Amino acid sequence: MSETRRQDAAAATGCHAGRQELRRAAEAAGQSEMLERLAADYPTGPHEQPQSMCPAFGSLRVGLRMRRTATVLSGSACCVYGLTFTSHFYGARRTVGYVPFDSETLVTGKLFEDIRDAVFALADPEKYDAIVVTNLCVPTASGVPLRLLPREIDGVRIIGIDVPGFGVPTHAEAKDVLAGAMLRYARAEAEQGPVAAPREGPAERPTVTLLGEMFPADPVGIGAMLEPLGLAAGPVVPTREWRELYAALDGALVAAIHPFYTAAVREFEAAGRAVIGSAPVGHDGTADWLDAVARGCDVPARKLDAVKARLLPAIRGALEAAPIRGRITLSGYEGSELLVARLLIESGADVRYVGTALPRTPWSEPDRAWLEARGVHVQYRASLEQDVAAMEEFEPDLAVGTTPVVQKAKERATPALYFTNLISARPLMGPAGAGSLAQVVNGALRSRARFDRMREFFEGVGTGHASGVWEEVPRDRPAFRARQARQAAKGPADAMGTA
Ligand code: SF4
Repeated sequence: MSETRRQDAAAATGCHAGRQELRRAAEAAGQSEMLERLAADYPTGPHEQPQSMCPAFGSLRVGLRMRRTATVLSGSACCVYGLTFTSHFYGARRTVGYVPFDSETLVTGKLFEDIRDAVFALADPEKYDAIVVTNLCVPTASGVPLRLLPREIDGVRIIGIDVPGFGVPTHAEAKDVLAGAMLRYARAEAEQGPVAAPREGPAERPTVTLLGEMFPADPVGIGAMLEPLGLAAGPVVPTREWRELYAALDGALVAAIHPFYTAAVREFEAAGRAVIGSAPVGHDGTADWLDAVARGCDVPARKLDAVKARLLPAIRGALEAAPIRGRITLSGYEGSELLVARLLIESGADVRYVGTALPRTPWSEPDRAWLEARGVHVQYRASLEQDVAAMEEFEPDLAVGTTPVVQKAKERATPALYFTNLISARPLMGPAGAGSLAQVVNGALRSRARFDRMREFFEGVGTGHASGVWEEVPRDRPAFRARQARQAAKGPADAMGTA
C-alpha cells in the first residue's frame, strides 16, 4: 500500500472497525517495536480486548490529575471529543489540549510539526513541570513520531506516548503507559544528579511505595500499619506531582497493590527496588502482606509479630461484626477485583466467580491462589459474555459488575452494584477495609423484593426489538442481522465492497 493510501486507511478507521488495519498501518509506519513492547506488557487472550471505554482515558486521567502538568491529545476529533467529555464528566476541571489534523497534515508530516509548535507554545516553566502528548489510534497508526519531540523545553519535560486502542487493551493499562514513561524520565533525571525533595521534606523512615490508585483513606491506613514496623507509606503511583516520582523511586520497597503496572514495575526494578504483590485486605491478606513487607525491608520478627498480634484480631473482629450472607458474582476493570473478592469471602459471602478485564500477572498470584483454593473461578481478561454467563450459571443473590453486567442483572431482577462507583469508592485495606463493604452489599442483597416487584410491574412490555408499548409491535429482522454478521466476518474491505 502506498504511504498516502496507508495513512488514509488509518484515518478512515475507528476503534471497533479497523483494529487489524490500524495495526498493519502502524507496523508499516515503523511502529513495530512499540507494538511489540505493548504486546509484551499487556498480553491479550483468551480474547483480544475486553469491552471497555477508550483505553486512552486511563492515561489522560492520570495526566489531568497531576499538578503543573499539561495534556495534549493528538487524534481524530471524535475520539478527542469523547475523551474530553468523559474527563470533564469525571470532574477534570483542566484544559485538554488538542492538535487537530486532516488527511493532508497527517500524510505530509505537517501534523508532527503542528504538535511540536503546540508544545513549544505551551512550555512555560512558570506553569508546568511537564507536558504529556498522547498519540491516539490514527496518529499512532500513521507513525507520528512523538519520540522526536524535544526532551525538555526551558526545563519543562516533554513526555510523548502512544496509546492506541489496538495496542493497549484497557484504560487501566493506559495508566501504566504514562506512569511508566514518567518514572523512566524521572529515573534518568535522578541518575544524573540531585532532584527535588518531596513537598513535605525527605522521609524520616524507609518508605513503601504504593502502586495503584486507591480510595484516599487507604494509603493513610496502610501508613498506620507500617508505622510500628519502622516504615512509612510512600507516594502512590500514579503520582499527583512530578517530584513525587523521585520519592516513589526512592522507596525501600514497592507494593503493587494493583497488579497491572508492568511498565512502572520495570522502572522500579531498574532502580533496584523489589516489588511485592497482593495487598493488606482482610485477615489473611493483611497477614501475608505484612510478612512480605517485613521480608522486603528486613523488619525484625519480633516487631512484625507484635504488629500482627495487634492488627489481625481487630480485622477478624471487624469482619465478624459485619457479616455478608449471600451468593455473589463479581467483575470489573479496576484491577482490585481479586482483592474485593477476598474481602467479601472473609466477610462470609459465597463468591463463585471473579472476572477482571486485566491480565494475569505475578503480582496478583497470591490472590488468585487464595481464591482458587476456595473454589472461586478467576477469569482474567474477562469478556462481557463470560461475566454474564457466570451470572446465569451461578444465579447469584447479588451481581457486582460493570455497567452492562449490572444492566443484564437488573433485567433478570437480580440485585446488582456497579463496581467502579460503589465498591471502589470505599476503603479496602487493613482494619478500615474490614467490614466496609458490608453496608452497601447487604443493602443491595436486601433489595431483591424490590426487583421482583419491578419485574412484575414491567411484565409484558417486551424485550429487545419489541421493547416498549406499541400499537403495532416492530417486526424483527433476523435475516438482516445474519447477513451483516456474515459480511462482517469476511472483514471490513469485503463488507464495504471496496478493494
Ligand atoms: S483513540 Fe480511543 S476512541 Fe479513538 S479510535 Fe482509538 S480506541 Fe477508539
